[in-house]
Amino acid sequence: MTSIPRHITRQRLFATFMELCAIDSEPGRERQMADFLRERLTGLGCSVSEDRAGQPTNGNTGNLHARLEGSGPGEALFLSCHLDRVAPGTGVRPRIQGEYLVSDGTTVLGADDGAGLAAILEALTTIREHRIPHPTLEIVLTVAEELALAGVRHFDISRLEARSGFVLDAAGRVGQIVVQAPEKVNFRAVFHGRSAHAGFSPEQGISAIQMAALAISRMRLLRIDPETTVNLGSISAQGASNIVPEFCELSGEIRSLDPAKVRAQLEAIERAMESAATELGGSTELRVTERYPAYQLAEETKAARRAARAARRIGAPLLFTSTGGGSDANIFNSRGRETVVLSCGYEHAHTTAERISLEQLSLLAEWVLALIVDDE
Ligand SMILES: [Zn+2]
Repeated sequence: MTSIPRHITRQRLFATFMELCAIDSEPGRERQMADFLRERLTGLGCSVSEDRAGQPTNGNTGNLHARLEGSGPGEALFLSCHLDRVAPGTGVRPRIQGEYLVSDGTTVLGADDGAGLAAILEALTTIREHRIPHPTLEIVLTVAEELALAGVRHFDISRLEARSGFVLDAAGRVGQIVVQAPEKVNFRAVFHGRSAHAGFSPEQGISAIQMAALAISRMRLLRIDPETTVNLGSISAQGASNIVPEFCELSGEIRSLDPAKVRAQLEAIERAMESAATELGGSTELRVTERYPAYQLAEETKAARRAARAARRIGAPLLFTSTGGGSDANIFNSRGRETVVLSCGYEHAHTTAERISLEQLSLLAEWVLALIVDDE
C-alpha cells in the first residue's frame, strides 16, 4: 500500500470552493457553472464534452463528461457531482466564519454539491502538480439533479468506460459511504363521484371528497417499517359548497429499499381506494410514476472497498450507511455502473444555514485524492 500524498493545498481548495459557490447555478440554469468547470477541467488535461440533456429538461445546459487518460495502472473509474443547487441559490456570497464556510444567510451556500466539485478539482490539480500516476478518470457532472434527477436520466451511459464510480453528494461526515438507497415512486389517486345540488338532491350525488376521506382512513401512512415509507403530500378538490364534489385527487410517494414492498404498498393503497369507491358508488384510478430504482451494494464490492481503503488512509472514521433519499447513484447503478455515494461533510443542506467546516472540506479533497491514487 502506498502512503497517501496528503499534499492538497488547503488555501487553493477554499478559494476554488468559494469561487464555485459564487457562480449562479439553480436547476436548468447551470450554464456559467458548466463553462467554469469545462475550462478548469480542460486546463487540467481532461477532454470535456457536453450532452443535450438541457433540451428535454428545459434547461440551458447539458451534462458534462470529462476524461483524463490514465498515467498509471488500474481500471478506469468515475467521479460524479451535480452542477445545480436548490433555490435560493443565486447571488451566493460565501465567506469564512470561524471554522466554517457559510453563506450570508440569504441564500443556500452551495456546498451541495460545490464541496464535491471543489474536491475533485483540487485532487486533479494535485495529481498534475506532483505527476502522480493514476488510472483513467472520468468526471460526470450532471444538471438538474435537484429536479428529481432529471439530468442524469438523459446521460448516455455507454460513454462511460468506467464500470464503477463515486457520486460525491451526501450529507454526513467524510468517511461515510452510502451503499444502499430506496426505490421511489410517486402516485396520484383520483376519485370520481357524481355532482348534484347539495341542498335539493344530495342523495343523487356521490361525494368524491367523502370517498377520498374514507380511502385515506383505510391507508397505512408514514413509517411502514424500517425500510419503507408512504406519504400523502397533497389533496385537491375544487368546488362550490352547494355542489356535491365529483372529483378529488391525492398525490403521494412511496419509498423502500425493497422493491417488493413498494409494490405491496401500492396494492394496499389501491385496495383502500376501491373499497371506498364500492361502498359509496364511485370509481377510482391510481396513476403511478417511477422516480428512481433502489440499489443495495455489498460492502465487498469494488467501489465500496476502494472508498473504504481511501477513508482509512486519510484517517477518516469509516461508516457504511444507507439513505432515505435518491441521488444520481440510483440511476448509475440501475444502468450497470456500480456506484457508491460519498458523504461530503456539509451540514444543513437545502437551507440558508448550509455550511461546511474547513476541516471537512479539506478531508474530502484528501479522500478523493486517496481514491484516485489507490493502486491496490
Ligand atoms: Zn446534492
